[in-house]
Amino acid sequence: MFTKTIPGVCRFCSGGCRALFTVQNGEITDVQGDLCAKAAPGSPGGRPDRVTRPLWRPAGADEWREIGWREAIARLAARLKEARDAGWAADDARTDGIAVFGSAAITNEESYLLAKFARLLGSPYIEHQARV
Ligand code: SF4
Repeated sequence: MFTKTIPGVCRFCSGGCRALFTVQNGEITDVQGDLCAKAAPGSPGGRPDRVTRPLWRPAGADEWREIGWREAIARLAARLKEARDAGWAADDARTDGIAVFGSAAITNEESYLLAKFARLLGSPYIEHQARV
């Protein structure tokens, strides 16, 4: 087994704290360093139960079931359209039904795209974690 420790940067938020990545056979198996409580549970191996496929829980059900990405995206798109239409303010050509909140873990370019996406939907409600 080939194990190596590589210095890097935590990407969980814009703090950019130093982290040490343990790599075994080409896969990150551990992250060490002065990581805060936000980042520590996200380290590889720390969350083997992490969800990697879309899950859906029908109304009234008490169990989640795995669905395909196509179905998940179709469901999200339908709910997004529903919220947009329900909050549509025709006089102002905008929706009050959707707000967009950016993350500190995304790049400037991703923030730009998020703002474009909000405007495309007709939402003037755009905020970012860095301003909170
Ligand atoms: S999540 Fe925590 S450890 Fe990671 S960059 Fe932000 S403050 Fe640093």
